Amino acid sequence: LLRGGLRQSSFSGTPISEELGSTIRRENATLVILARNSELKGVISSMRNLENRFNHRYQYPWVFLNDEEFTNEFKGLVLLETNAPVHFGLIPKEQWVQPAWINEGKAEESRHRLKEQNIIYGDSSSYRNMCRFNSGYFFHHPLLQQFKFYWRVEPDVKYFCDMSYDPFQYMIKNNQTYGFTITLFETPETVTTLWDSVKEFMAKYPQYIANDNALEFISSDGGKTYNMCHFWSNFEIADMDFWRSDAYQTFFEFLDAKGGFYYERWGDAPVHSIAAALFLPKHRLHFFQDIGYQHAVYQHCPSSDESLGNSCSCHRWNTIDYTKQSCLPQYKAMLLNKATPIVNDLSP
Ligand code: GDP
Ligand code: MN
Repeated sequence: LLRGGLRQSSFSGTPISEELGSTIRRENATLVILARNSELKGVISSMRNLENRFNHRYQYPWVFLNDEEFTNEFKGLVLLETNAPVHFGLIPKEQWVQPAWINEGKAEESRHRLKEQNIIYGDSSSYRNMCRFNSGYFFHHPLLQQFKFYWRVEPDVKYFCDMSYDPFQYMIKNNQTYGFTITLFETPETVTTLWDSVKEFMAKYPQYIANDNALEFISSDGGKTYNMCHFWSNFEIADMDFWRSDAYQTFFEFLDAKGGFYYERWGDAPVHSIAAALFLPKHRLHFFQDIGYQHAVYQHCPSSDESLGNSCSCHRWNTIDYTKQSCLPQYKAMLLNKATPIVNDLSP
């Protein structure tokens, strides 16, 4: 712990500060950023924005993770941006680098193939490390053990609106597990065999599939194929105990053993999304419609009456929601319909 907040270890609804006569309570939650030293400027930009729109009132701690030691410059400048506690953590090598049992020839072939197909990050090993880490390991990091909920932040993202409430408290009060702002289609070339593995998993572990699941969001044919819909994981407000559960742990180990993080370029977004859609009842997924958010290429700007007056610095029609890139129609339809019975024959 490098810098103290008001009272550092007060979680679960303990009053943490009294300003202007009103008591602000804080949940067991943290803001988390995975970043490189070279991304300092983008980190500061995201931090300044989120502190301004939300965290200066709540002072949720920040956790920074990196596969290399953060420099003193990085740490020093980050500390200037918040009064909340800040933790800097190093990722254990074995949770980051390509495992020794991965066939490097096959991995190289994949990098070559995806580069030829002009797939973004197609030729990158480090991107694959990052996707695997975010899929299977971040929530096991020692610095995150004390926390239940997290808000994932990335360098160079924007939050357009003032937060008029605490989203962590919302999640807890409403018994929610996974929250998102943007849903869209994955690049099919990066997940060629992912769904085959998911079907194999579902057949082997039917006990993990929730009755009232959100299968219809991710499959438009009762589970035969993946429709590429996923939640964009650069924004997540979620419960780490879900990732730590038997269902998800077994799922991650199963997928990891297939090697697809390296033999293809499986992203943490489809992996998280498929798990959330299958292992959770659909009412535990939450669309944070009122959080205006931008990450390179796409943005979500609130349109509901709820967000009016929250001083959003985005135009309500400038949003991915109404474009053909968005999976919001699939998400909304899934909520309206009865859970799809999973078809018996899921053979590839
Ligand atoms: P994109 O959002 O899919 O375009 O990918 P990014 O380059 O933004 O990476 C996703 C997240 O992982 C960001 O928070 C990055 O800062 C972080 N990240 C990506 N690669 C590395 C890496 O090699 N080392 C570290 N420490 N962080 C990384
Ligand atoms: Mn990014």
